[in-house]
Amino acid sequence: MEDIKRNIAAIRSTLPANVELVAVSKFHPVEALQAAYDAGQRVFGESRAAELAAKAVALPDDIRWHFIGHLQTNKVRQVVPHASLIHSIDSERLLRMVNAEAAKIGRTIDVLLQVHVAQEETKYGFSPDELVAMAENGILSEMTSVRVVGVMGMATNTDDETRIAADFDAIRDTFARLHDGAMAKHPEFTVISMGMSDDHQLAIAHGSNMVRIGTAIFGYREY
Ligand SMILES: *Cc1c(COP(=O)(O)O)cnc(C)c1O
Repeated sequence: MEDIKRNIAAIRSTLPANVELVAVSKFHPVEALQAAYDAGQRVFGESRAAELAAKAVALPDDIRWHFIGHLQTNKVRQVVPHASLIHSIDSERLLRMVNAEAAKIGRTIDVLLQVHVAQEETKYGFSPDELVAMAENGILSEMTSVRVVGVMGMATNTDDETRIAADFDAIRDTFARLHDGAMAKHPEFTVISMGMSDDHQLAIAHGSNMVRIGTAIFGYREY
């Protein structure tokens, strides 16, 4: 547990002031999260609905829970009461579902639109053009219980830094197209969530202002 505190301090010391650290705590026990909390960490990322819900009731109320994994529509109801930000809106159907659930319980929830740029078939998300098209056709302004505050994306899983940098540029450029276009009148549209343990410094150099770091804080997890 001392390692966790040390890791958080070490990472924090490298982050520019405008970059938010999301401590990705999926698959780690509440004791590990409590150690991070005691080190001052208040934003945690989880990728499974039931796990997020269970941890949210077990840990202090001032934690801001981020849902970062692929969200199945039948799990939305479990996540919406607890999450302060959902990173992974990857379809119009999911967006509508989150909006409907949030309306039902009388809250407004912040979300990011997931951009798919990586060279992998299995990753979720909108292509940049799909995302811009969706934003331009006015759907986002129909969402009365959802605030779209930015974009999220992942780089290709490779050692090729040029490829990774190009992916981050593509995510940032998608943010810029929305920011200067369909979202221009939305001052809350500010977040670029990209970068994980191995690539967060490169992500920040390419425009990230929210990094999602698991292994470098909590160590390796067992799936
Ligand atoms: C697990 C996960 C992370 C954290 O990855 P690490 O390499 O452990 O830092 C970040 N983002 C998403 C979407 C994840 O699923």
